[in-house]
Amino acid sequence: MTDTVAQVGQQSGELGVIDELVSYARENLSVDQRDVDWTRNRLLEYFSEHSESLSELAQSGDISGAALNDDAVMGILSAPPSRVEELFAIMREERGSTAAMQWLFDYCVANGYVKKRQLDRNIRYVSNGLIVTINTAKPEFKTMRNAASGNAVDSSFAQCTICRENEGLAARGKRTLRTVDVALAGDSFFWQFSPYGYFRQHGICVNQEHTPMHVDRRTFEHLLAFVQQFPEYFLGCNAALPRIGGSVLAHDHYQGGGELMPMQSAPAWKSFALPSEPDVRVEIIGWPATALRVLSADTDALVRVCERIRTAWADYDNDSLDIHSHDEQGERQSSVAPIARILPADRAGEPPLYEMSLILRNNAVSEQYPLGVFHAHPEYFFIKQEPIGLIEAMGLFVLPGRLVSQLDALERALADGTALPEQISDFELAWNEVRAQLSGNESADGVRRIVRDEVGSICRRILGNIAVFPQFADTERFLRDLGCRSLQQSV
Ligand SMILES: [Zn+2]
Repeated sequence: MTDTVAQVGQQSGELGVIDELVSYARENLSVDQRDVDWTRNRLLEYFSEHSESLSELAQSGDISGAALNDDAVMGILSAPPSRVEELFAIMREERGSTAAMQWLFDYCVANGYVKKRQLDRNIRYVSNGLIVTINTAKPEFKTMRNAASGNAVDSSFAQCTICRENEGLAARGKRTLRTVDVALAGDSFFWQFSPYGYFRQHGICVNQEHTPMHVDRRTFEHLLAFVQQFPEYFLGCNAALPRIGGSVLAHDHYQGGGELMPMQSAPAWKSFALPSEPDVRVEIIGWPATALRVLSADTDALVRVCERIRTAWADYDNDSLDIHSHDEQGERQSSVAPIARILPADRAGEPPLYEMSLILRNNAVSEQYPLGVFHAHPEYFFIKQEPIGLIEAMGLFVLPGRLVSQLDALERALADGTALPEQISDFELAWNEVRAQLSGNESADGVRRIVRDEVGSICRRILGNIAVFPQFADTERFLRDLGCRSLQQSV
């Protein structure tokens, strides 16, 4: 160890780096004074084997900022999971769950797990009643490296990328991952923030057990239990079907965060109630995807009605609309994506009003749409080809990073009056629609505004693609078959 210190110490500038990192950990990562020497010595040991990393930090103008991208260094600087859990619990006890979540989020930004600096550079705007983001935070090369290292992991420890055993796992770049326990209606879950979150405090609530995704009565109970504990968050669950968003179907988990999604503020098209459940209101949301909103102050009644809708939808068939509840092999291909929240007090008053949104999803294919009838259709693949998951169905689109340069090329050609560039020839639909709106006198900014609106308009049409009922009247028929009766006005 003496040799190590001597070697590193040869360059006193580099020792300064270590001092700065240790004081950063003291100030931002809750490293106790008692652990300062220990932390410094672990850094010395690490840098004795990774001198290139130390020189890079020494040369950067912003040591702490540069270190945020170094999972190994930040892993050493971060407090152990037990300490983070303990501080979260203390914060929750003393200042409430909202403050505790804010503290944990800030912690995960400060230790580099949440890539906030990159995320803040993402393009994000509102158009056509949707939030459109272009996520460039996740660099392609990193994805490849992560994918390669992920394959190399001994699967006996962490069976998938969201198992809790990933906490500290170097091979997956998770040395800075910190999670906290959350109990949901008697079941054990944990919460973690997403490194590449798409919205305010985006995170996932994960089952302690590596057990498959599913949506049933317990799901509704879990989601409601979560928002009761974290009333400023929503929490939802992807429909447990392949190609419908849940990228990790093998491990039960929910998604949520602290931002209102466009669908949640969309007005009701019409309101209904079941005669047997007068305390529960069912609304058809005025939204391009097929979505219901179930509202009640009574969570038991709310769960009963949601379960009734879920089971009815799971077996609903309609040849004329291409809705097939089961595929040719007899596998289920209908499910709901539920999202819970508590309505803000100004709308709800006392007692609090609980809301469960239910997005009806179906995975049927047809001759015309072999990749899925209720998925993004091929004419829009140039904007988005990936599955439309929960968050996008709620109106926040996460578009691929390639669009930055592609839209740039599109805008330049439109502004210069040249032809559609060869490398984006698949953008012809957008090209024609934007050109029809141009007067020829637009500034570059003006062209950009129109192009961005075009992208928003296509995203809205994609939401129309995933609608299982093309007309609200079809959704109304489904509810009436269930026994729902329309309400004159809101209750
Ligand atoms: Zn797992």
